[in-house]
Amino acid sequence: SSSLDHTRTLASQVGGHAGVQTTEDGSLIIKPALPLEHKFYLELTTSDAFAALRPYVPRFFGTLKLEGEVDETKSNTGGGIVIKETDTKEHKDKCCFLLSLVLENLSHPFLKPNILDAKLGTVLYDEEASPDKVERMLKTARETTSLETGVRLTGFQVYDNATSQPINTPKSYGKSIKPSDLPEGIRRFFPISSAESSSGLPANLLLPILQYLREDIAEIRGALADLHFRMVGGSLLIIYEADFKKAEEGIQWVKDVEEGKIDPESDEDEDDDKDGEDAAKKQKPRSPYVVKLIDFAHTRIKPGEGPDEGVLKGIDTVLSLLDGRIKEVEALL
Ligand code: ADP
Ligand code: MN
Repeated sequence: SSSLDHTRTLASQVGGHAGVQTTEDGSLIIKPALPLEHKFYLELTTSDAFAALRPYVPRFFGTLKLEGEVDETKSNTGGGIVIKETDTKEHKDKCCFLLSLVLENLSHPFLKPNILDAKLGTVLYDEEASPDKVERMLKTARETTSLETGVRLTGFQVYDNATSQPINTPKSYGKSIKPSDLPEGIRRFFPISSAESSSGLPANLLLPILQYLREDIAEIRGALADLHFRMVGGSLLIIYEADFKKAEEGIQWVKDVEEGKIDPESDEDEDDDKDGEDAAKKQKPRSPYVVKLIDFAHTRIKPGEGPDEGVLKGIDTVLSLLDGRIKEVEALL
């Protein structure tokens, strides 16, 4: 049911370079890969180096090798993977995107996914970047929230309850704000539905989702604190359900799992069926949120060098932003 023959642009892409594709059924994404990201996912499955991160990254299903030459002036319109001209010099230098990664589409199980890409780290340049690029990235870090807080809101989408359509906040917003504006940025991604706001969840549904997300992100921090690595340009991808009914069912599902009434594993991996399964699956209660690390195009294991302090700083910022939002929501209940 997740055929790779017919792919389309991932409509819910909130950050990064254009060109992420999804399978016809939406369950997988196909992302053009730089060599280092390919290496990361191979090592994730085969070696112990990144093993601790396995629970916290999208499932990796393998690579797709594109046949033929990459013609940067044309796109392949045969219904297959579209090879687009890439927009950065860096990507052109590395050339060719001939290999793509096939990954779990984290937003697929959601009816109305609110999605935030939060870029982590204070260092935004790769150790192999040109002096030019290093200069530019130092400037970007200084002029954005990255250097001081270790995080930047790369982009997000939030559903409008009136139209049931996602509203996108582009990267220009996250790039323009100051550290003191981050709580407002987090409010925009986690709005509370009210007479004044046609987006967001009711406070009683938003609160547990914020608390669950906080717990998971604290776990991710724990794993990263023990890892000797450097991650440049990686993100936390935070997703939660914006549909009231689905969110409520999802919260109940989490409680049932916690109380041992439901085995979360037995609920998965039964999607080997025919058409119609997809719609049925979407109606089945499941987690109303997910948070994972994504984008390992510049992530390296660095034995003996300790954790990436800039990345940990960014995660700590996210945790305190969530704490702030949790307090605000609690005050309304
Ligand atoms: P880039 O190198 O272009 O920044 P990313 O890996 O950050 O690539 O992906 C770009 C965007 O694609 C993300 O901001 C997110 O919206 C979407 N995306 C990436 N990976 C996934 C995934 N596994 N599931 C769902 N969406 C994803
Ligand atoms: Mn990215």
